[in-house]
Amino acid sequence: MSTSAPLDFPRAAALLREAHDVTLLAHVRPDADALGSALALGRALHRRGVTARVSFGEPDALPESLRGLDADGLSVTADEVPPAAGLLVCLDTPTPARLGKLADRVEATRAAGGDVLVVDHHASNVRYGSVNLVDDTAEATAVLVLALLDELGAALDEPMARGLYAGLVTDTGGFRRARPSTHRTAARLIEAGVDPDRLAREIVDDHPFAWLPMLSTVLSTARLEPDAAQGLGLVHAVVTAEVAATVRLEEVEGVVDVVRSTREAEVAVVLKEQVPGEWAVSFRAIGKIDVSQAARRLGGGGHRLAAGCTVHGTAAEALAAVRRALDEAPLLG
Ligand code: AMP
Ligand code: MN
Ligand code: MN
Repeated sequence: MSTSAPLDFPRAAALLREAHDVTLLAHVRPDADALGSALALGRALHRRGVTARVSFGEPDALPESLRGLDADGLSVTADEVPPAAGLLVCLDTPTPARLGKLADRVEATRAAGGDVLVVDHHASNVRYGSVNLVDDTAEATAVLVLALLDELGAALDEPMARGLYAGLVTDTGGFRRARPSTHRTAARLIEAGVDPDRLAREIVDDHPFAWLPMLSTVLSTARLEPDAAQGLGLVHAVVTAEVAATVRLEEVEGVVDVVRSTREAEVAVVLKEQVPGEWAVSFRAIGKIDVSQAARRLGGGGHRLAAGCTVHGTAAEALAAVRRALDEAPLLG
């Protein structure tokens, strides 16, 4: 599904110009796109003298690898987010539910007469804002935020560019999925002062040594099922809560990037145990099957080639549900 309404950047910019107090929210377990976008826009507002805060529903603290993106100390815990802001901006978040325990801020802001601005690139976005900048052809929310900053006339500086570049480099798979115009956008961010090598190392390639034994344990659970996913092949691995506890969230989230390199499988799945009997599931596909639809069948969502959901039961039960969902997922033409 492509965006039907034209993107109203002038209206979005008008909301930001009028605001005095802005809460910017990323989705739960925020990634570099959600948080980098929120912090870059938050900094632009902060520099205009606006009270701006950035938050997310969980975990309680900023992921360590993304702390360098918060140059102004704008990040606050979910409990510190006021019940209603004059303007609520939700970034990279297709539904209020993905705000986790901050989901109620959407209704509360509206009830208090405030506005909600949604900036996102998920096809599944339900357009829950008073203004929705939603474009599923954008490779990252960061691309939309930069266009919004341009509309605002905000001068791009290095900390803002760093947040946006972090979103771009991660959501495009290290620019593999970036269009020419997005490479030009990246060039602008580098010209604004971003050090791409240093930044990518900090947010993608830097792990404590405990990552290696953790990977060893997790990869020993990897199984290849050539007949699964409609015969396209499925590879999966399991991260138990006990193993996850030996590393940061970042290391757990990075497992799927190793598993997905398996040649024989179109689909890679990693089960990550949250609490006993509850699994966060990451799906990745190469290009032949829409895994967002498989995730959606299981109550989640995402992009065609990168999606996720939460499943309950034993690991074997969760995998059975995943197999069934993949057997029903539409193939990409
Ligand atoms: P992840 O595997 O956690 O990196 O997530 C991949 C993509 O799937 C993200 O960009 C999200 O859009 C989406 N996603 C992950 N988990 C969920 C969920 N529980 N519900 C909806 N979308 C999700
Ligand atoms: Mn995201
Ligand atoms: Mn994104």
